[in-house]
Amino acid sequence: MYVSYFTQIAILAGLYFFTGKFGLTFDAASGFATLVWPPTGIALSALLLFGYKLWPGIAIGAFLVNFLTGAPFLAALGISIGNTLEAIFGAYLLKKARFQKSLERLRDVIFLIVLAACISTLISASIGVTSLFFAGIVSFSTIAPTWISWWIGDMLGNLIIAPVFLVWSNRPRAKLTSAQAVWAVFFGIVLIFVNSVVFTSTFKIEGYPILPLLYIVFPLLIWVSFIFGQRGTTLALFALAFIAISNTVQSLGPFAGQKLSRSLFILQSFLGITSVTFLTLASVVSERKLLERRKNEFITVASHELKTPITSIKSYIQILQKHLQNPTKKQIASSLYFLSQVNDQIDKLTIIINDLLDISKIQAGKLELRKKRFDFDFFVKNIVVNFQHSTDSHIITIEGETKKKIFGDEYRLGQLLTNLLSNAIKYSPKKDHIIVKTKSYKNVILVSVQDFGIGISREDQRNIFEPFFQVRGKKEYRIAGLGMGLHIASEIAKRHGGTLWVESAVRKGSTFYFTLPLNSSSQKLYRSYT
Ligand code: ADP
Repeated sequence: MYVSYFTQIAILAGLYFFTGKFGLTFDAASGFATLVWPPTGIALSALLLFGYKLWPGIAIGAFLVNFLTGAPFLAALGISIGNTLEAIFGAYLLKKARFQKSLERLRDVIFLIVLAACISTLISASIGVTSLFFAGIVSFSTIAPTWISWWIGDMLGNLIIAPVFLVWSNRPRAKLTSAQAVWAVFFGIVLIFVNSVVFTSTFKIEGYPILPLLYIVFPLLIWVSFIFGQRGTTLALFALAFIAISNTVQSLGPFAGQKLSRSLFILQSFLGITSVTFLTLASVVSERKLLERRKNEFITVASHELKTPITSIKSYIQILQKHLQNPTKKQIASSLYFLSQVNDQIDKLTIIINDLLDISKIQAGKLELRKKRFDFDFFVKNIVVNFQHSTDSHIITIEGETKKKIFGDEYRLGQLLTNLLSNAIKYSPKKDHIIVKTKSYKNVILVSVQDFGIGISREDQRNIFEPFFQVRGKKEYRIAGLGMGLHIASEIAKRHGGTLWVESAVRKGSTFYFTLPLNSSSQKLYRSYT
């Protein structure tokens, strides 16, 4: 559905305004710093999902909600700038960290917590409170509590609201089966019921400040994380926050106290820690499931890859057996051909088995390097010439030279370059040119292998260096492999103090780069080069 740019801005500004107005009703410190501030999460998700261009929606929404609540013009303007910068900076930090919205990896949850929830929110709290101070709304003595309320309110926006938008904007991996859908509805009802009971009850054991009923929430959230992953968890956390806050403001439930701002402060600390805990748990569960799925896929592909050469070897041997019983001259000639085929198939098996052994060495941290000093240009030429002998389909050209000797494991570096060359050929079936470029800088050698083939999408570029990862593509591009080569190659580069990375565009081709240090400080130079 097409929605024009101005309509998108108007929708964002409207959402920001109304959720902000709602947040400001909760006994905000100094009238503006509220502990419940959903707009922060909405703003961050909007910029991450639709791009920075929507920033005016945040600026307008934030200005109006504060101005119409009574903030002087300049103070409302200051607050609006702070809120807009907070969202832009949060989105920028997450994009830089190559954050994935599905929150299915632990690192993404940690990025959301640290970069967006904790760091970017410092901007809005600081600029907002400063604006209120200069407008005379916040006195010197109330700066600290106002700032803390502001920060916590924004933080919770990013911990509870943003995850719902971010996670649910992704297409689900698999549709729920009808049995799972029934379970989901059942869990939803139980969660709402239990939360409603917990947050309306003030059941306490006399003389003890502990609220035993509150803990019932945890096993439920654990189940949700295990069974429904981040999709279920983000919704469950949202429901928990909604029920908890709406009851606490009505002076109900375990967090209700004499002063609403204090009750909310304790409640928000509880909600913050709960959401950090369960977002983390759900991501770890998803990572485990992903690994399990990859392992299963790997076993299927590996057994197929191992079986194919074995089946061929067996049939060649059967033919050879027949031929050699009473051989004619012609049969002896063809037997030699079959023997060379057997040899080729055994080579294929050896490569697969060596890769498997390398992966297990890498995972055990036992990939050893036998380093010596050797001429790099000669080494590259040697590998390329040898490789060229084994292929008629592509022409490989070398551009540039390094005129350097390097200290490294010649065998492993050969494996790295060969892997890039064989991928370049494998994944450019309709093109016939591969370019290998080498260049030396003061402390580092840069090598690139460029093909003009099928390319790799941005999404897949993030994963191709992981063990056993293979791009799932159209059938025509499904090419035999086990997804081990690039992981091994990148480990070899890393073990030499270098880095391997890719730049690629779908249907235009890929260029894989790797650096090798000429001395230990070269990593810095590599960074300044890129
Ligand atoms: P394999 O090639 O055995 O599947 P790799 O680890 O070498 O495993 O590569 C992982 C994935 O990266 C491949 O499945 C392929 O989809 C993608 N890939 C690697 N090199 C290229 C390339 N030059 N062009 C396009 N895709 C590539």
